[in-house]
Amino acid sequence: MGQKIYLDYNATTPMRPEVLALMAQHLDTPYNASSIHSYGREGRKIIDKARRQIASAVGCDPNNVIFNSGATEGNNTVLKYFQGQTIAVSAIEHPSVLEARPDAIIIPVSSKGIIDLDTLDHICKEHRPAVVSCMMVNNETGIIQPITEASSITKRYGSYFHCDGVQAFGKLSFSLFDYGIDFLTLSAHKIGGPQGVGALVLGLCGETPTLLDGGGQEKKARAGTENVAGIAGFGLAAEMAQIQLNEYGKLDRLRNLLEAGLKDINKDILVVGETSRRVANTSLFSLPDIRSESILMALDLEGIAASNGSACSSGTVQESHVIKAMKITDKYKNGALRISMGWGTKPADIEQFLKVFKKIVDRV
Ligand code: PMP
Repeated sequence: MGQKIYLDYNATTPMRPEVLALMAQHLDTPYNASSIHSYGREGRKIIDKARRQIASAVGCDPNNVIFNSGATEGNNTVLKYFQGQTIAVSAIEHPSVLEARPDAIIIPVSSKGIIDLDTLDHICKEHRPAVVSCMMVNNETGIIQPITEASSITKRYGSYFHCDGVQAFGKLSFSLFDYGIDFLTLSAHKIGGPQGVGALVLGLCGETPTLLDGGGQEKKARAGTENVAGIAGFGLAAEMAQIQLNEYGKLDRLRNLLEAGLKDINKDILVVGETSRRVANTSLFSLPDIRSESILMALDLEGIAASNGSACSSGTVQESHVIKAMKITDKYKNGALRISMGWGTKPADIEQFLKVFKKIVDRV
């Protein structure tokens, strides 16, 4: 690996050893869960166990869980299903929402990074969108969105409510029905499961969005041979994450240590969303008049993996659409760094980060 300190859990997490061990047991077996033979039946059993594990974590019937390749697919599946109809999405959604439907009406957020509920009400009243999409937790800032309020406004006007739950799953306790969610997207690799596995979970609305044509897998809801080992790993990761929810919440002690240390280093540091409700593991902060790339590279040379928070899938760093939507002062817009912690993060990691960060900041 080469990295000594990993502080980029919101991008992807290390796989849990128990998940790796379980997947290794299944990877070499020719499971085709649609086959009648014993391998097929065994594969189906493994998938159904994972379905129950996911369902129990989000409070729904196992039949409502459809396995897929991850949240990019889940988000595209829901939003493209309503192609040709008006939809509304929040300004801070992941690119897999924003770019799936560039024609969507954008719901703004406040300077605190929280969806503007009055504008949502107005948009629903005026445009009656087929579906409204609002993430539960933002991946860059960790800010928690008012999902029950947003879904109840949406429902009042007869629209469906889609929620990207990727960054909330395993960090917060929530239930699909209490939160009024019609479509929920999840991903395994943010909770210690494998990459390339996720789920679309259906609420009570009765619609089953599909994206792919082909086989009749997942009760015709998602064509393509199931990734049995990956799905098993996802189920176990979800169960473990649920058991460890309380522990996860305690990461805010490390975050407080981090943010206090940052302010000692430079009193002008801006902690984005500091006064908003955030998940415990995430801190997005920015130094005035500095570009984050040079700091990220210097951190990497010191064996610390962090992120600037915004999607940089092409390897190039772009201005974050989340920071833009929050209308953060120009001098802070290029210097954002995201630290996202997880079950493997220790106080010593944060102390080491602060030591190295101070050295880099003194230099630049
Ligand atoms: N939504 C959010 C909020 C995310 O953080 C991510 C991962 N960056 C995705 C969707 C996409 O998930 P996946 O990698 O499973 O396609």
